[in-house]
Formats: sequence, C-alpha cells, structure tokens
Amino acid sequence: MRYILFLFLIIGHLPSQAQQKGKRPNIVIIVSDDHAFQAISAYGGKLMQTPNIDRLAKEGGIFNKAYVTNSLCGPSRATILTGKYSHKNGFKDNRSSFDGSQDNFAKRLQAGGYQTAWIGKWHLETEPQGFDYWQVLPGQGAYYNPDFLVAGKKIRKEGYVTNLISDAAEQWLDGRDASKPFCLVIGHKATHRNWLPDTTDLGRFDNSTFPLPANFYDTYEGRAAAQHQDMTIAKTMQLASDLKMLPDSGFRKGEFSRMNAAQRAKFEAYYKPIIAKFRAAGLKGNALTEWKYQRYLKDYLSTAAALDRNIGRILHYLDAHQLSRNTLVIYLSDQGFYMGEHGWFDKRFMYEESFRTPMVIRYPGVVKPGSRINGMVMNLDIAPTCLEVAGVPVPGDVQGKSFLSLLKNPSGSIRKSMYYHYYEMAEHSVWPHFGIRTQQYKLIRFYQEGEKWELFDLLKDPSEMHNVYGQKGYEQITVKLKEELKGLIREYEDEEAMQIFNKEI
Ligand code: CA
Repeated sequence: MRYILFLFLIIGHLPSQAQQKGKRPNIVIIVSDDHAFQAISAYGGKLMQTPNIDRLAKEGGIFNKAYVTNSLCGPSRATILTGKYSHKNGFKDNRSSFDGSQDNFAKRLQAGGYQTAWIGKWHLETEPQGFDYWQVLPGQGAYYNPDFLVAGKKIRKEGYVTNLISDAAEQWLDGRDASKPFCLVIGHKATHRNWLPDTTDLGRFDNSTFPLPANFYDTYEGRAAAQHQDMTIAKTMQLASDLKMLPDSGFRKGEFSRMNAAQRAKFEAYYKPIIAKFRAAGLKGNALTEWKYQRYLKDYLSTAAALDRNIGRILHYLDAHQLSRNTLVIYLSDQGFYMGEHGWFDKRFMYEESFRTPMVIRYPGVVKPGSRINGMVMNLDIAPTCLEVAGVPVPGDVQGKSFLSLLKNPSGSIRKSMYYHYYEMAEHSVWPHFGIRTQQYKLIRFYQEGEKWELFDLLKDPSEMHNVYGQKGYEQITVKLKEELKGLIREYEDEEAMQIFNKEI
C-alpha cells in the first residue's frame, strides 16, 4: 500500500509529455472589445479588410461557432479567466467587482512554471491576480493619452491606446525570462464605444457607402424584449458623444479633452467640414438614421483598422524573435456586436450577432493551416484549453471544456448545445434572459422585466425575426429544448435560473 502511494506521488509530480520535451508552448491571447465578426474579412465580412486577423486564420484555424456565456465586457473577461459562468465567478454585470482571490487559469499556469502577464483592458475593477506583471487600463480606459495602472500606480501615457498596449506588450516580451514559457494576455479597448480612430485612420472609409442590413428597419413583431430595448441607431445613438457632431456638447468634455493640441487639430480638421455639411443638410427621419448608420460604420471600422494593424505588430514580433513556431495565438472579442442588424448597435442579447464572437487560433504543428472549425466552443473553454496545452491539470470545478481535440480534428464536437445567461438590467434596457442554442434551434427565457419565451428555427430564420414559440408544429421541439435547457441549468448549477425556469408563465 505504502509502495503504491509512493508511486502515485512520484507520478503525480512527473512532468507531462509536453514538459518532458522541454518546449511547452507559449500562449498569447488577444482579447478585443465589441469587435463584430461581420467586420472581419476572414469571416466573409465585406465591410473592411482585416489582413492580420486573416493571416492568423490562414496560418491556423477560424472558429465558425464561437460563443460567449454572457454578452458583456466584464462578465466575458471573468469567464475567460475562470472558465466558469457568471453565477459561479460572481461577475454577472458591469456593476460587479471581481473577487481576484478565486482560482483562475493564470494562477495555475504560474504554479506550473509559466510567466504570466495581462496588458491593456481588464475591466474587472479589482487588481489582477495570477499575473507576474500587469499593466491595465482603469475601467473602460481612454482612447487618447490613456491612464494605465501599473503595480497600483496610475501613469498617463501620450499616444493612441491600441498602439500603446502593443508597446507595453512588446516591452514585457523583451524583458521576460527567456528560459520559461509565457502566457501573455493583450486586452484591447478597441472597438468599444465611443469609437475614436487613431488620427492616421481618420477618413479611411470616407469613400465607402455601406449597405443597410436587410433587417435594419425591424419592427420587433412577436419579440417583446426586442421591442423594449434602448440600443437603436435611430434613437439611442448620440449625434454628439457617439458620432462627434455638434462638438460644443458632450464630446468636447469627454475624450476630446484628453487630446493634445496636435491630436485635437487633426480631429478638428477632419470633423469640421463633416459637421458643417451635416448641419446644412437638416436630415430627418429615415434619412437621418441612415446617415447615422454610415457615420457609425466609418468610425467603428476606422477604429478596427488600428486593432487589426496592432495584431499584425504582435505577429511580426513573434516572427522577428523566432517565437511563432512555439506560440499558440488566440484572437477573440469579448462578444459580438450589432452592425445595424435589427437597427441596433451594442450587444447583450442572445441573438446571434452578440452571442457569437469572432475567434481565430494559430497553433503550429497542431492546427492545420486554413482549418475551419465548426464545433461549438465558448469563451468558457479558453481557460481549460490553455491549461491542457500547457500540460497543467484542469481543476475539477472549471465548467468549460478544452477544445484542443477540435484543433486536431476540426470536424469534431465537444458539446451539442450551449447555455447562456445575461443579467444586466441597466443601460440599453435589455431584459435579463437565459437560454439554450442547439445546431438548429434557440430557446430563450426572458425574465424580471418581462416574462417571455422565444423560440427560433435558425435554419429557416437565421436572422431571428420570427419567434415561433407557442406556434403550431413546434410543440414537440419546445418540450425537448426545455428538457435540454433544464439539464444544462442543472449541470452548471445555476440555481437562480432553475427557480425562474420552474415558474409557470
Ligand atoms: Ca465588450
């Protein structure tokens, strides 16, 4: 018995196969904010070219079905870190504060001999834990001349945030201990509202006219929560703060006031004639809404251009330092975003544009270049995947699943359905809801503000315009989906959802 126990202890401390080879891969995770897959050319998006994200997809693989557990900035980052749903990691909405003392994958990597760093947008309010080094934006951060928190101190840097984050990432890589593998998380502020391009990108899309999505003038028939939201381009998007018109109001007090004289002069020179033309046109009704849509896309895509360029910078750094071959690179957003679909911007809903997220991976020797990965994965899976890749055991209470097997076999599958739960009832008035998505169907339960079920047949109705809940012919599938949803709620131990689920409406 004693001999067996001894053997067990020895084996327990043996390095994994990857460790034995002495070449455990480095991990670089680039997390952007509100970056829509519709704005990425590797996803077939026609709005702009993203050559650097496309390069990652070409040299690695692209996830066609990557989703998030709760479509909001802070909660998504908390889920990426912990591999757990919001009700388990405690960060349910953006008013939450992250309990950094809980376990996260970076702590496990650290204990496993990795050097760890988080640089850029963090958004979890409390100080990062599990990172040998961190340099983060306070809260949402600023696009121009932003403050960074470094070891508890606030420092203001001159320049554009997306470039400054790459500078800091490269500096950390330069100074790291090259004898150890590393895990670096680069968090970008881009492309979060209010979209401010780098001065070099101002006017980049001035010659483009973007087609309206087919459901731009959605009237939300049969979808009560969609009727009650406050996130339309028509009404919610602000001419001053979002679109930089009427510069004598909000915009001037906010980000604009952080700019130095040279930056401000470039912005003034660019926007002055646009503002004059806009005022002279006196647009109203649909003409005004469509003008706002065009302006929104120009600003958003110009901001995304710097994001893509800076992803390229990191790939170049890895090339120049002979790190590309032994580094896994993941690019993802914290969730998707509406580019005018349903007449919206913003996120939150379990509808496809915000529930989905772009996710691209390069892992030389494992992911075949040009792979298209169709299995359903979630931001929940990042933590266990990184641990498995590093040869570090995945703790039993992690709720995500490693998708390493999908990387080796892109036509495989790690789950047959996905569970979602959104909580925040604040800005944009999106009712709290939870639900299930299978390959073909999506069943959503809204609660608190409005108690409603919605059901979509995604094969017949990929734009989710027709709620078929309660309609003839859908009785059986509804019963089946409810059973499966209940199973997921039980599996993930979401007690609040279970109580709501059991309430008759
Ligand atoms: Ca976000």
